[in-house]
Amino acid sequence: THFGFKQVPSSSKQHLVKEVFDSVSSKYDIMNDAMSLGVHRLWKDSFVSGLDPGKRGPLKVIDVAGGTGDIALRILDYAREKYSDRETSVDVVDINGMMLKEGEKRFKKTMYHNTPQISFQVSNAQSLPPSQFPDNTYDIYTIAFGIRNCTNIPDVLTQAYRVLKPGGVFACLEFSKVENPLLASIYDQYSFSIIPLLGTILAGDRESYQYLVESIRKFPSQPDFAQMVREAGFETGKMVEGRGGAWRDLWGGVASVHMGVKV
Ligand code: SAM
Repeated sequence: THFGFKQVPSSSKQHLVKEVFDSVSSKYDIMNDAMSLGVHRLWKDSFVSGLDPGKRGPLKVIDVAGGTGDIALRILDYAREKYSDRETSVDVVDINGMMLKEGEKRFKKTMYHNTPQISFQVSNAQSLPPSQFPDNTYDIYTIAFGIRNCTNIPDVLTQAYRVLKPGGVFACLEFSKVENPLLASIYDQYSFSIIPLLGTILAGDRESYQYLVESIRKFPSQPDFAQMVREAGFETGKMVEGRGGAWRDLWGGVASVHMGVKV
């Protein structure tokens, strides 16, 4: 794959994103570990335990931009281990069939394979078809490291609101903005030099990883994103423990978790 990221008009961003994830799908999980030094696992665990409603389900969950099923697997394991819940289900949705294929392969080795607890469906987060994903269907909508790849964030949020039941929870894990200047400069160094280098060495694909770094750069700050979540109709500030804020920073804002409730 070869493309000049800066010259790409936004109309072809979707195509570009598909190309990026096609080219990385088989190495995606190993690259995640390498780039984040394994930290994405801790963030995902924290993200999933933050979804615990404090009582036994079962819950109907949709995991959008779910890729290889990392979040789905954690949700199902969490429900089973904490609540002996084998009825909670996750519909994994992604625009890229190759990422989902990796997910299906991985789920074949789990106890959830061939059960109603898991499904994989190709669809665009910005335009989930109502025939396939009806209004007021899900208790929880998750999107992890996916929304920044979408061309139109408000459309994604509108669809999330639509498919959730009233009282349902929207939860987003995404790379964010680091406030502390020292941490920010270390992080910049790391992401602009080391990540594309790792992409070259491990996946033979510098440009895809360069794209990932730039997409993180362009994503809105925590307060701006929280405002977009509210504009889609969600109530924020009730879910996040501690400060009662709309989001929770991880590692000083390298990533953050935003939550909202459909009212
Ligand atoms: N959620 C998974 C995780 O945390 O490991 C995968 C994250 S991966 C960085 C981003 C995923 O977003 C890719 O699988 C990509 O295909 C998907 N994606 C990008 N644009 C999308 C869209 N418009 N609708 C649905 N999925 C999309």
